Amino acid sequence: MIIDGRKIAQDLRTDMATQVALFGRKPGLAVILVGDDPASSVYVRNKGNACEEVGFYTEKINKPNDITQAELLAEIERLNNDDRVDGILVQLPLPKHLDANQVIETIDPTKDVDGFHSENIGKLMQNKPFLRPCTPKGVMTLLAATGVDLVGKNCVVVGASNIVGRPMAMELLNARATVTICHSKTQDLPNKLKQADIVVTAVGIAQMIQGEWIKQGAIVIDVGINRLDNGSLVGDVDFESAEKVASWITPVPGGVGPMTIATLLENTLIAYKAREEK
Ligand code: NDP
Repeated sequence: MIIDGRKIAQDLRTDMATQVALFGRKPGLAVILVGDDPASSVYVRNKGNACEEVGFYTEKINKPNDITQAELLAEIERLNNDDRVDGILVQLPLPKHLDANQVIETIDPTKDVDGFHSENIGKLMQNKPFLRPCTPKGVMTLLAATGVDLVGKNCVVVGASNIVGRPMAMELLNARATVTICHSKTQDLPNKLKQADIVVTAVGIAQMIQGEWIKQGAIVIDVGINRLDNGSLVGDVDFESAEKVASWITPVPGGVGPMTIATLLENTLIAYKAREEK
């Protein structure tokens, strides 16, 4: 069966819009885009549109490619101190001359709606999460939608990046699953995958995971977004062969992607509520 990320994300947005309509002050999200990378511009536009749809206050801040580190940090400090803003997101990747890590660490952790600040990652590690990285958290929402109990399941996460693979593994561990993390140096990946009740891929290589590597009845969540030469978007999983063996599978596009944005709004709402309760 297909896990319909678009529908699940739409339901979440509708629910948030209903809540927000009753609020006096609107939850606020500021999104900073440095430079004019076309993919980043599309992501930022989609995030802004989603904010408007649910009735959030939104600030889209475009900065030139040659902004200095000090200028960018000053902009973040301004937003840290702006009471209309509950969430701050700096679209990654940043131009090479900027230190992304220092930028993330400058965001007030209570406004870090991407969940990348070391304080939020630390809380996730301790299983006391506050703002959780959007893509892995969105994957957990998709898994919940299948109704399958994760406790004790064998999960294989392919990819170990700070923004997807590592926090994904921690989310699954916090859900009491047994987790294996694979990366580019992993030996015999097909055999590792064959043991998995749940597979989450975040690699960035088009259609590398074959259906024959997947255990019959496994759940397959494909985070990868890869563009083929013909312009079409595909995941890390060869969908055609994998859907024949999987019990549940996410499509690309229309799976994890829409959930990432809906989860960003969800995090902004959590940050808003925490600030309102202070
Ligand atoms: P990174 O490039 O940061 O990480 C890729 C990971 O895959 C690394 O851990 C790398 O291993 C591992 N890897 C590379 N080659 C192989 C291989 N042959 N076998 C096993 N593992 C391998 O990517 P991201 O985590 O940022 O993104 C991954 C994908 O997810 C991309 O396609 C990206 O576009 C997509 N994405 C989608 C999102 C969404 O909302 N749907 C959000 C974010 C990302 P090593 O650590 O050894 O280098």
